[in-house]
Amino acid sequence: MSLSRSFCPTLVGCLSQGAAGNPTGAMVEAAFTHHGINARYINMEVSPENLADAVKGIRASGYQGFNLSMPHKVTVIPFLDGLGESAAAIGAVNCVVRRGERWIGENTDGKGFLRSLTEIVDPRGKTVVLFGAGGAARSIAVELTLAGVGKLILVNRTPERGNQLLNTIVVGLQGNAELFTWNEDFKLPPDADIVINGTSIGLYDLDARVQIDTATIQSHQIFADVVFNPPLTRFLRDAGASSCKTIDGLSMLVNQGVLGIHFWTGIWPDVSIMRQALSKAMGC
Ligand code: NDP
Repeated sequence: MSLSRSFCPTLVGCLSQGAAGNPTGAMVEAAFTHHGINARYINMEVSPENLADAVKGIRASGYQGFNLSMPHKVTVIPFLDGLGESAAAIGAVNCVVRRGERWIGENTDGKGFLRSLTEIVDPRGKTVVLFGAGGAARSIAVELTLAGVGKLILVNRTPERGNQLLNTIVVGLQGNAELFTWNEDFKLPPDADIVINGTSIGLYDLDARVQIDTATIQSHQIFADVVFNPPLTRFLRDAGASSCKTIDGLSMLVNQGVLGIHFWTGIWPDVSIMRQALSKAMGC
């Protein structure tokens, strides 16, 4: 028996290692259902040595695209036909989109962050302190630079990784950035408008402390955290105690999902439906 194409759902996938319980699927499928889109989001456990075959299989199976989580975000690049502007600058892909016969790698992490941020403030011309220089921080630094941020103050524990990011921003994108090595409580400059935790500090740990001098927090500053579990991190609680506006990591995660759905289907899905489904799947 063969099914006519029109009865088959559009397929999108997620290739990860340790995908069990990935809450992104629940969020994306809730949007498909809400908007009456005949599509499925399939979580696939793929080991690094099987990545090439997995991508080949997806390309041959009528998929419209797929997400990737670590460790596949960088190693997938040779198997694609091109990269979006920010994915190329970041050097990592978390969302692949089929455009005709070409499979293009995009990075929706930083774009998702930017969508969350611009609900509160336009980053153009602003001074931003960004802690971290790993994958999440890189994607945010690149998108902020492309969006016309005034100055990026990068703060990272390991100078090597910090310097790589500094180089990407200043040399690669002609952005305005400086780097501080982080080995004690960081004093926030009074002209900082936006303060971002782009590290994994706080992941699954309600009390983990991002090393900042809390006496230097000012109420006009906007604080954002990439950590989404728990959503209310100590970093955001400290900022809230100083009456700062805050953006949690769930917001970034939901918005990267919104952008993925937009890339794959062309629609702009309902953000609140997705956030609700994600919170339910994560039990928070
Ligand atoms: P990476 O491992 O690539 O980078 C981790 C970063 O955190 C590095 O800069 C590292 O510094 C820093 N770091 C870790 N522990 C410490 C510590 N004790 N003190 C100082 N610095 C520390 O991770 P990712 O960038 O991929 O992920 C970071 C976080 O972002 C994770 O919690 C992840 O879940 C979250 N994330 C959230 C997304 C969302 O949509 N909300 C999307 C993607 C990621 P160093 O370089 O010195 O090692």
